[in-house]
Amino acid sequence: MNSAPETTNTPAATPGPATANSAVAAAATVITNIASLVTNDPSLGDGSPLGLIQDAAVVIDGDRVVWVGESSKAPATDNRVDAGGRAVIPGFVDSHSHLVFAGDRTAEFNARMSGRAYTAGGIRTTVAATRAATDEALEANLTRHLAEALRQGTTTFETKSGYGLTVEDEARALRIAARHTEEVTYLGAHIVSPDYADDPAAYVALVTGEMLDACAPYARWVDVFCEKGAFDGDQARAILTAGQAKGLIPRVHANQLSYGPGVQLAVELDAASADHCTHLTDADVDALANGRTVATLLPGAEFSTRAEWPDARRLLDAGVTVALSTDCNPGSSYTSSVPFCIALAVRDMRMTPDEALWSATAGGAAALRRTDIGHLSPGARADLTILDAPSHVHLAYRPGVPLVREVWRKGERVS
Ligand SMILES: [Zn+2]
Repeated sequence: MNSAPETTNTPAATPGPATANSAVAAAATVITNIASLVTNDPSLGDGSPLGLIQDAAVVIDGDRVVWVGESSKAPATDNRVDAGGRAVIPGFVDSHSHLVFAGDRTAEFNARMSGRAYTAGGIRTTVAATRAATDEALEANLTRHLAEALRQGTTTFETKSGYGLTVEDEARALRIAARHTEEVTYLGAHIVSPDYADDPAAYVALVTGEMLDACAPYARWVDVFCEKGAFDGDQARAILTAGQAKGLIPRVHANQLSYGPGVQLAVELDAASADHCTHLTDADVDALANGRTVATLLPGAEFSTRAEWPDARRLLDAGVTVALSTDCNPGSSYTSSVPFCIALAVRDMRMTPDEALWSATAGGAAALRRTDIGHLSPGARADLTILDAPSHVHLAYRPGVPLVREVWRKGERVS
């Protein structure tokens, strides 16, 4: 079984989208007997955005996908995995989470869901617990949540600082996060630090000065919560442009709780993503449709706060690129489950099952400006999930059911 028919003369796989199948080494692994394979490559399979192939196989060599196609045409390889008539999808790309924190906010959630007024400090509660935690405790908590996300099919995640709000505590959060992901976001501008409650301008100066200097070496992105009660448009612009001057790329918490300047500022500064997008004017939608900023929807937040859903259909119908992520954080969206967010997006935000799956994989990759993940074309990183279901539609059709059977990351079975 060592003869490996070569399907093309394409040289070794290279990162990024490719349309031709690459040469297959015998030592590769074929996953075969896949009932339906989502490639997210419209040039493959049925020609839809999901690039769906029925009765499919995937060949993995090293950390890359090197061949996809119909099972009957799969090249021979040394290693064979039988998917047993299940569906295979790209690993989820969770492009928005807040996982460096300590403590939890059970009491706040319980009060909110029990109809009682809750006035204690929200984010400040987590800031106090995070500052008091040791490095080891913060990292153990992060690792625990990452393992939880991985078991649910997330193979790439972004995460932020924002619960330290001092130079030392923000830099510490990013240093810890950078040990676990390359998608690290500096969010010193989560809220005005309680230490600067009487002088927000001084806090903005810190965030754009000494704190930025300490944090930039660990981060790829700069973010700001642009919202009434957090940072206004002028402050957000100062924070994002200061980050850009240090080589960070903007992303923005925009238009979550109210209308405001966040989305249009994000597009103006060519931010990778405007996140939440719950309260949008027509001008906001137009700006997103005409720019390259992705709209990242985070329905776990609306679910957990009983808030109004973002209007996904309006964005999709306008041609905006939409990502779907968890916003996993202890206050407003304490879920690490992308499948749960897909079910909400389909049931309550009226995304189709295909759109929701695309947004949670290729959309997340677009929000992180990555071309090597979020799809399963030859050349892509071999990040994929075998579902305990014959089709990706089951993620919404069977909400709450643990359908993630096997997770592969960088070509290795990890869960
Ligand atoms: Zn967030």
